[in-house]
Amino acid sequence: MSYKAPLKDMQFVLNELANLAQINQLPGCEDATADTVEAVLEENAKFCGEVIAPLNHAGDKEPSFWKDGSVTTSKGFREAFRAFGEAGWQGVQHPQEFGGQGLPKLVATPCMEMLHAANLSFALAPLLTDGAIEALLTAGSDEQKALFLEPLISGKWTGTMNLTEPQAGSDLAAVRTRAVPQGDGTFKVYGTKIFITYGEHDMAENIIHLVLARTPDAPPGVKGISLFIVPKFLVNADGSLGARNDAHCVSIEHKLGIKASPTAVLQFGDHGGAIGTLVGEENRGLEYMFIMMNAARFGVGMQGVGLAERAYQQAAAFAKERIQSREVAGSPGPVAIIHHPDVRRMLMSMRSQTEAARALAYVGAGISDIAHSHADEATRKANLAVYEYLVPVIKGWSTEMSENVARDGVQVHGGMGFIEETGAAQHYRDAKILTIYEGTTAIQANDLVGRKTVRDGGAVAKSLIAQVRATEAQLREVQGADFAALADRLAAGSAALEQVVDFVVANARSDVRAVFAGSVPYLKLAGIVLGGWQMARAALVASRKLGAGEGDAAFLRAKIATARFFGDHVLSQADGLRIAIVEDAAGVLALDVEQF
Ligand SMILES: Cc1cc2nc3c(=O)[nH]c(=O)nc-3n(C[C@H](O)[C@H](O)[C@H](O)COP(=O)(O)OP(=O)(O)OC[C@H]3O[C@@H](n4cnc5c(N)ncnc54)[C@H](O)[C@@H]3O)c2cc1C
Repeated sequence: MSYKAPLKDMQFVLNELANLAQINQLPGCEDATADTVEAVLEENAKFCGEVIAPLNHAGDKEPSFWKDGSVTTSKGFREAFRAFGEAGWQGVQHPQEFGGQGLPKLVATPCMEMLHAANLSFALAPLLTDGAIEALLTAGSDEQKALFLEPLISGKWTGTMNLTEPQAGSDLAAVRTRAVPQGDGTFKVYGTKIFITYGEHDMAENIIHLVLARTPDAPPGVKGISLFIVPKFLVNADGSLGARNDAHCVSIEHKLGIKASPTAVLQFGDHGGAIGTLVGEENRGLEYMFIMMNAARFGVGMQGVGLAERAYQQAAAFAKERIQSREVAGSPGPVAIIHHPDVRRMLMSMRSQTEAARALAYVGAGISDIAHSHADEATRKANLAVYEYLVPVIKGWSTEMSENVARDGVQVHGGMGFIEETGAAQHYRDAKILTIYEGTTAIQANDLVGRKTVRDGGAVAKSLIAQVRATEAQLREVQGADFAALADRLAAGSAALEQVVDFVVANARSDVRAVFAGSVPYLKLAGIVLGGWQMARAALVASRKLGAGEGDAAFLRAKIATARFFGDHVLSQADGLRIAIVEDAAGVLALDVEQF
């Protein structure tokens, strides 16, 4: 099953919802004109569809493998990664100063989506490399930037993120890896890191591991964690490769999904110490890693959108071909299953949630660009706060959504969905990791509650709710049942979200367990209300364009119908989530531990 990038929807979201024209006016974003962006997306779609997507199923069947400390990646990955780097795709959003294209995150985001949709396993190498680049751009010294950024941005080298240890997963306070200063500005790193994505592979000349570790006198907990660069091959002052460093891959994991991506156990310092250099200041490692994680968490949210799109395309194509049963209203003979209302319900559910998550993520990317590049500091700060609120929602909600969409994709296929050769099962298996790595959905929800809601007394959440209400008012001005229904659902959704935000803020100190009992439902509620808001905005644009006789009428009418479906079938769940969070937190904790 091939992948065809949904360029029409991507362009619609970029231009009409995420306001590309406004982003293009920001200092440093002048190159992102509508024409350039269209050309970039078309080229990227071609590359992802023709070069990367065909490797997806084969990589699942013949995963990367480990032998004697080295990893051989799945067939075709090496060549494809070289082509990816040479075409400049790693550098889309990175500074021109270091060889990147310097385009806004808003433009990089659809490129990311296409790559993830084409091949989740392949796309992980660029995703983690992006995170390493972000961390070095923010906290690296001039020397580190000069040495590492250009080869990472050109795709000559890749980056990794080394947080997890056997006893330290969600809880990074438990990190034990040690970094001992050598008196010459370098450190020797000792410890074991597990689950390191692309921790070892054969696709690039060097691998730049970013490693969390503790220096000898570091305070306990997260306040004593520092960040180190530990390259696989040491890098000489002129950028050439030096000796092999003492960082070795001792095995890779056998997994449920994303099988082509190697997930490594890395042993640092077993043969005398792995040489590393400190990034930024000592004991501020977690802070820097959060920069990397925010980029990576957003990226994983885009993996959810990409995977959902691919699963939807596959299910829709199958539903048009598979002949089974007569139509419920009567037909001369059996029909393609797409004529059965329940199959249509599943396809609409898959499509509407994918479109909503795409729209929310792209709008988030535009807000991130304003937060980085706007000339006015207060505007930058305000947008940064909104972006930071959205990151756990985009990561948590889009990935949970993708798992449901991939599950429906299997269901549309019937028995063939359970059989590996169709590929629907691979999407379902691949989707599962997305709600786990880069922080599980619960960890995203903790972040949403603690740092993003309680800390500012719900101010950012309330500012978003006010915008949702403004859209609701606009919907009420448009004639037609679709718009009235959407306005009602949005009104109910924003009311539910507001009550939950009030509940979270009011009880954060007095009844913290009750608040966290509802943290994941709160994240889902925020996702469906904010996603529904974007669908409502899309319906308004579609109505205006149809009225003016502009654009592709069939696409615009489908947008309104899809928004209406999202309102009635997804957004309508908002009050159920509110009840679970506000009225029955006690139910979560009602039984004693012994009763389980
Ligand atoms: C394929 C794969 C690739 C990965 N890639 C990388 C990588 O490149 N780099 C890296 O450093 N790590 C990586 N990881 C590790 C990944 O980030 C962790 O597995 C993940 O953060 C969860 O940690 P854990 O597995 O220890 O689970 P635990 O932390 O043990 O969690 C188990 C369960 O408890 C819940 N839980 C734990 N703490 C809390 C809490 N405070 N509140 C509520 N619920 C909680 C979790 O949500 C989860 O449901 C990868 C993992 C996999 C499987």
